[in-house]
Amino acid sequence: MRRRTTKAQGIDRVLFSEAELHTMVERLAGEIAETYRDIGEPPVLLGVLNGSVLFISDLMRALPIPCDVDFVAVQSYQGERSTGDARLRLQPKIPLTGRHVLVVEDILDTGVTLRYLCSEFLPQQKPASIRVCTLLDKPSRRRPGVFAADYTGAEVPDVFVVGYGLDLNEEYRDLPYIGVLRAPEHKE
Ligand code: 5GP
Ligand code: MG
Repeated sequence: MRRRTTKAQGIDRVLFSEAELHTMVERLAGEIAETYRDIGEPPVLLGVLNGSVLFISDLMRALPIPCDVDFVAVQSYQGERSTGDARLRLQPKIPLTGRHVLVVEDILDTGVTLRYLCSEFLPQQKPASIRVCTLLDKPSRRRPGVFAADYTGAEVPDVFVVGYGLDLNEEYRDLPYIGVLRAPEHKE
């Protein structure tokens, strides 16, 4: 298996190692399975591209119950617009009407992406239920009135994290751990 040193990657510190991520995913899978086992129907895991790909692939393997899997892509605009805005770039293929949908996100930051999915797009599909599982949560950045996730791997401080699917300009997604980048002037 390919291994990279944190130094070579310009990572200042590792926030969550591969082993810690594994433990986190196993715990989340257990919590999720409890909910949907009681409901008695397989959920549709709806991954938000591209950041959730590593997380959702580990999560669905760790789930001890059957599930369906599909994806959406959302583009969010936050730059100069104070309220934030988002729109769908890729539609799910599975009909979601009457299904129990579990949105799977890499990180819940301002909440603009999930607010759009859970308050606008998904309700229009008339699913049986909508829940959210996020690997990471940055509560300090949340816009007022935006909800919390139903399942959260870990909270992180207001730092920019990369790895395990999370990118900086499409780089770093392939790292097996989650880390914080070194300050740009020290980057090799
Ligand atoms: P939102 O602000 O809508 O909650 O988050 C939008 C998206 O921004 C997240 O799904 C994630 O893809 C990206 N994002 C937010 N915080 C970070 C971060 O610390 N690192 C990386 N790589 N992406 C982030
Ligand atoms: Mg994302």
